[in-house]
Amino acid sequence: MNQSMNEPPSKKLDNLRAGVLSEMFSFMTKSEEDMERTFAIIKPDAVERKLAGKILDRIEAKGFSIVGMKKIKLSREQAEGFYYVHKARPFFNDLCAFMSRSPVIVLCLEKENAIADWRTLMGATNPANAEPGTIRKDFAVNIEENSSHGSDAPETAAFEIPYFFSTLELV
Ligand code: ATP
Ligand code: MG
Repeated sequence: MNQSMNEPPSKKLDNLRAGVLSEMFSFMTKSEEDMERTFAIIKPDAVERKLAGKILDRIEAKGFSIVGMKKIKLSREQAEGFYYVHKARPFFNDLCAFMSRSPVIVLCLEKENAIADWRTLMGATNPANAEPGTIRKDFAVNIEENSSHGSDAPETAAFEIPYFFSTLELV
């Protein structure tokens, strides 16, 4: 039998209060101030080779929470805007062509020390220099088609996350 049906109204109120307090307590103990968010992309070369699941598995295994995720196809202009800091680099045109040639999966990831930890998990830009066990070492094709992107500083994350996500999409 449903226990609450037999409870007097005052007991039900107590339970309700306890529930609300517990919610408030869990919110306070999440210590959100220790959490950091970073922005990540599973790049076209990895999505094309159906490596997204393997990469997402590594992300979750390292303790990141996926607070935003979607599959999109960047226009050439969106790729150029995203990588505008590299505008003067010789690889800029090729990079933007690569990033807009087929869909990517964009992600907002959260954990303590998320920015540095995601860079560590990705490995060095050039897979030839990446540590064993990193995403780029294991999956990248070459220095350009290197399977993943990660913000390199809090200011970069603060530009990159809202470039792709609205606050309503981060949960
Ligand atoms: P990302 O910003 O994508 O996380 P990163 O921070 O490791 O990579 P950056 O120097 O910011 O490296 O370069 C941005 C991207 O440009 C690289 O991830 C790679 O796709 C491409 N790239 C970098 N250097 C070269 C290069 N020498 N030749 C070709 N492509 C390059
Ligand atoms: Mg970079």
